[in-house]
Order: sequence, then structure tokens, then C-alpha cells
Amino acid sequence: MKHDDCLFCKIIDGELPSAKVYEDDHVYAFMDISQVTTGHTLVIPKVHTRDIYETPADVASELFARIPKIAQAIKKVYNPIGLNLLNNNEILAGQTVFHLHIHIIPRYGEDDGFDLKWVTRNDEFTMEKLEEIAEKIKGAIE
Ligand code: AMP
Ligand code: ZN
Repeated sequence: MKHDDCLFCKIIDGELPSAKVYEDDHVYAFMDISQVTTGHTLVIPKVHTRDIYETPADVASELFARIPKIAQAIKKVYNPIGLNLLNNNEILAGQTVFHLHIHIIPRYGEDDGFDLKWVTRNDEFTMEKLEEIAEKIKGAIE
């Protein structure tokens, strides 16, 4: 189920080069060409799926199931202080390649190159408001 214009499908097929760290029937993992921190790895399903919305549960489970062992390997080699997993969906959220991927970003310190701005609004979101939001989402789960 390759997608003709997809960069990552081409990487899986070997049409484009990559620094591979792991491959099996379901998943391919390789070094991000723009390393945010040393060991920054991308993990992708072999089946083309655009983003999290289009990803069937079985593809998601196979993909996520491989992440602990790849993360453990990175930890073994580079011994980072921390590690972030990141998945961007749509342009606003920073998605630039439209084949689902999880970034594994080992962390070495506050100024290691990775930054996630995170502004919380606890005053605005009371428990009542949270329950109202939860009800809406709950009702939409299929
Ligand atoms: P995102 O911005 O979440 O869609 O992530 C896409 C990632 O793919 C970026 O971090 C890019 O550096 C990376 N990338 C783009 N082209 C390649 C490539 N040919 N090989 C490896 N990584 C790539
Ligand atoms: Zn693809």
C-alpha cells in the first residue's frame, strides 16, 4: 500500500537512502535527517497512513509496540537524561511529511535543542468545564 508521492514510502522501499536502525514486517525506523538531538529517530508504519486520524488500530499498535525497544537501545548507547515522543498532525502542529511518524527525541539538557512551549490555563478550566469537555468527546468516540 505504497503512496506514490510519499517520501517515507520511498525510504521504506529503498528508493531513497536512510540511516536505518530497525526494520521488520510492520515498522521501519531511521535517523531523522535533521537531528534535533543526537539519536533523534523516526519510527513509521510500513503501510502508508497520512496521520493519526487515518491510522487503523492494528497499525497503531504494531507501531507503538516497537517504540520501547528502540528507546531502550538509544538509552543504552547515549544514556540521555530524558526522552520525548512526538507525533505531529497537520501543518499547524508541525507536520511536514504526511506519512505517520513518531519522533523519538533523546534529551541531554535544557539547552539541547528541543523546546516545547506549554502554557496551562488551570483557572479557565474548572473541573466542571473539564467534565463538560469530556462528555462531548466521550459522546463522539466510535
Ligand atoms: P514532521 O515535521 O513531524 O512531519 O517530521 C518530519 C521529519 O522528517 C522532519 O524532522 C525531517 O527532518 C525528517 N525528514 C525529512 N526528510 C527526511 C529524509 N529524507 N530522511 C530522514 N528524515 C527526513
Ligand atoms: Zn507513505
